Amino acid sequence: MNAWQKEISIVLLLLIIVSIVGGLTGFFQPMLFILVLFLLIYQVYQISRFEKWISVGGRRRYPETRGIWEEIYYHVYRIKKTEKKRKKKLGKIIDQFRKSTEALPDAAVVLGNNDEIEWENKAAREVLGLKQSDKGQRIPNLIRFPEFISYLRSGNYNEAVIIPSPIDDRITLEVRVVAYGAGLRLLLAQDVTQLKKMERMRKDFVANVSHELRTPLTVLKGYLETLQDMDDGNSPLLTTSFKEMQAQTERMQHLVDDLLLLTRLETQQKKPQCINVPELLSQICRESDTLETADRRIKLTLQSDAHIFGEEQELRSAFTNLLSNALKYSPQDSVVKVRWYETNDSMVLEVEDQGEGIAAADIPRITERFYRCEVKRNRKVNGTGLGLAIVKHVLMRHDAKLNIASELGKGSRFSCHFPVTRLCAANPSI
Ligand code: ADP
Repeated sequence: MNAWQKEISIVLLLLIIVSIVGGLTGFFQPMLFILVLFLLIYQVYQISRFEKWISVGGRRRYPETRGIWEEIYYHVYRIKKTEKKRKKKLGKIIDQFRKSTEALPDAAVVLGNNDEIEWENKAAREVLGLKQSDKGQRIPNLIRFPEFISYLRSGNYNEAVIIPSPIDDRITLEVRVVAYGAGLRLLLAQDVTQLKKMERMRKDFVANVSHELRTPLTVLKGYLETLQDMDDGNSPLLTTSFKEMQAQTERMQHLVDDLLLLTRLETQQKKPQCINVPELLSQICRESDTLETADRRIKLTLQSDAHIFGEEQELRSAFTNLLSNALKYSPQDSVVKVRWYETNDSMVLEVEDQGEGIAAADIPRITERFYRCEVKRNRKVNGTGLGLAIVKHVLMRHDAKLNIASELGKGSRFSCHFPVTRLCAANPSI
């Protein structure tokens, strides 16, 4: 018999006793009234005891009682006990998490809904100059770099932002925000001073070497041309050697030119103007077509007369690279389609060829410097492996994206998507 059945049985038994005794003595009604009153007072007394116990947290051992009330006390006591155990476990985990993040070499700051500091670790105090008393303060009031503030406001945390340390400008920090939970964000700052220094050294080295190679290459090329002019054709070995030497110096010159262009893209300040893209494309296509042996290989379709805000030289070299790749990596009699059009949210340049195509595994890598796909071809195709790296850089500097769709043996389509924010009037002064 469970507690409820027992409780009901007792009440029924009391009712039967009262009915029998009341019936025999003729006091049934007063006795029934006394019984109901007794039961009511008993329950009120139990409720008040329970309320007293629960009001102090129900943590202490519950008072001695019987029947259904003992069951109620027991269940509530058990729930409280498991909750206490869970809290203790959770507290331990939080404590461990705090200790481990405290020991992290990277700065970590928990930010609330209004960018206020909720918690920070030791590294955050060291590299970001935060103090324990800064808790509750809004972080943009403490780290005032404009690029950091606009990054925090943007809500787009896919990429990190680079800022100097607020306490030592010789330290470079890479700051990233990770959103989690309900409106909470974790700000992480990593010291990338060494990394940036090495990157700068690499850029300087490439720039210096490329620059220094330019003069000897020009001299070599000049002498080679003179020697070729002097060649009377009596020695076939000499003639082919001159040809090969000329091809190799030209290749090296392209390489040096591409490296210098990449360096310029990485280091030079932008000086944008409103560019007439249809005119630029017509020029590029005309120039490339005249170099082709087949008649009119390039089919240019201008579906938009949109002009964009950008750097003419950079765009020219990116578009030329895409077009020359399409021509290089497709049969000499095939058509290459170039299209300039608008969509709802972008202006698009598309270069499509019916060439050898690119393997799916190569597509993510072809914009890396010096990456060239290994393809068995009947003819030799010259290249530096830097063309698409230049395209990627130029597009990045114009907030544009490169999409590549390709199928081996069928052809490739490269599309550059410029955001509408780059749109400009034909005459900027209007
Ligand atoms: P490269 O100087 O070798 O052309 P790029 O950076 O321009 O260097 O291109 C990298 C590689 O991507 C090329 O070697 C080629 O294998 C592949 N590629 C680029 N464009 C095309 C295309 N339109 N069709 C097929 N393969 C291409």
